[in-house]
Amino acid sequence: MRSYYLETASDHAAQAALSGPVDARVCVIGGGLAGLNTALGLLERGMRDIVVLEAGRVGHGASGRNGGFVFGGFSRGEDALLRELGPDRARDLYGGTLQAVELIRRRIHTHRIDCQPVEAGVIWANWFQDERVLRERQQLLADSFGVQWDWIARDELREQLRTDRYHGGLMEGRGFHFHPLRYVQGLADQIAGQGGHVHEYCPALSLKRVGSRWQVDTPDGCVVADEVVLACGGYLAGLRRVVDAAVMPIATYVMVTDPLGARLGSVMNTRAAVYDTRFAFDYYRPLPDTRLLWGGRISVLDRSPADVERLLRRDLLKVYQQLHDVGIEYAWSGLMSYARHQMPQIGRIEDGLWLAQAFGGHGVAPTTFAGELVAAAIAENDTRWREFSDYGLVSALKPAGFIGAQLTYWWHQARDAWKAGRERSG
Ligand SMILES: Cc1cc2nc3c(=O)[nH]c(=O)nc-3n(C[C@H](O)[C@H](O)[C@H](O)COP(=O)(O)OP(=O)(O)OC[C@H]3O[C@@H](n4cnc5c(N)ncnc54)[C@H](O)[C@@H]3O)c2cc1C
Repeated sequence: MRSYYLETASDHAAQAALSGPVDARVCVIGGGLAGLNTALGLLERGMRDIVVLEAGRVGHGASGRNGGFVFGGFSRGEDALLRELGPDRARDLYGGTLQAVELIRRRIHTHRIDCQPVEAGVIWANWFQDERVLRERQQLLADSFGVQWDWIARDELREQLRTDRYHGGLMEGRGFHFHPLRYVQGLADQIAGQGGHVHEYCPALSLKRVGSRWQVDTPDGCVVADEVVLACGGYLAGLRRVVDAAVMPIATYVMVTDPLGARLGSVMNTRAAVYDTRFAFDYYRPLPDTRLLWGGRISVLDRSPADVERLLRRDLLKVYQQLHDVGIEYAWSGLMSYARHQMPQIGRIEDGLWLAQAFGGHGVAPTTFAGELVAAAIAENDTRWREFSDYGLVSALKPAGFIGAQLTYWWHQARDAWKAGRERSG
């Protein structure tokens, strides 16, 4: 895969794969944000002999390919959390993601991670004329979660985003955006710097019990550990059937334009990141070198770069006609992991076997939160991870679930298009 992130990543030498047997306190499988946050959280709590195994390079999965939005919340909406958990627990879980945003900010600062953070907030732009969608969410966040998202009137938003497409928006001021792969690499460097061991090109091939411990086999070595953490997202580890069966890998797409220079100002007069109010929303942000990163769509198909570019260019032109002739330099896809309940699956599934997966399309802060919960559980017997126990390992009903997921997406997409069309003609 050719991606903007890979080509602008830090100069980061590959960490050697494992050779021979190793004894560890904890073996983390998966070098994405879930795995690396857990490993760093363990080291920060004073634990030693922490080993991370990654099948490719760190950030090979969703964590090194995403939109770079760092903001609060989960894939599951706040209204659903309130309904399902009640006000206190919902507030607690949502609050955990806000603390995670601050922890990411702190780690970037403390460890001087050069990941181009842009502190300009995240805009939720209304695709529809009906402003109730904004009013209701703004109120719900304020009343039930104590969070303030600021109102952006239609004209003001048109000043910031040079398009007539949107009808106002809300600003999540504490959100920011960054170069996710550089951040992931920064976490891996911290783990190595604090005495942990990250092994790249080192897939875990099997997982078995050896007495009261676990043995993880890799092509040229094995780890025997007291505890194992599975954090393989949509790239399914193939180690426990029930774990893989509980997530649906779903693709989403990103493209990056040529540098726009002064022309970027004809599109965006803000440095904020933007997504919109549709179920199948666009998400985009200006990059420091004046390119525009544009993402969107959800599919069960992992498409070629040419197909990704064709689809996303169509979406881009619905918002910014003025970019009709823009060159696209990069296009890629990545796999998210979704559970049927759209919440992360976090916690202990067997004695000494932990899980952090299913973060969906909203995972940068929640993986950080999960890393803290699992690390605190292993290092300090903290039981806060049990707050996620309502969202367990339910089967994703594959392969029928793939068809269901695609049909759901198309249904929402058609419904949003119908609503927008009706508003225009009405
Ligand atoms: C295109 C895209 C855009 C997104 N945009 C955003 C965004 O802007 N903001 C946001 O908050 N979220 C976003 N997300 C979601 C977010 O990126 C994910 O939720 C998050 O990165 C998941 O992290 P993870 O560690 O669970 O999984 P991953 O990052 O996918 O990591 C899993 C890792 O496990 C490894 N692995 C698998 N099997 C094995 C094995 N057997 N042995 C060793 N290693 C193994 C894989 O190689 C992979 O590196 C986006 C996702 C995608 C795909």
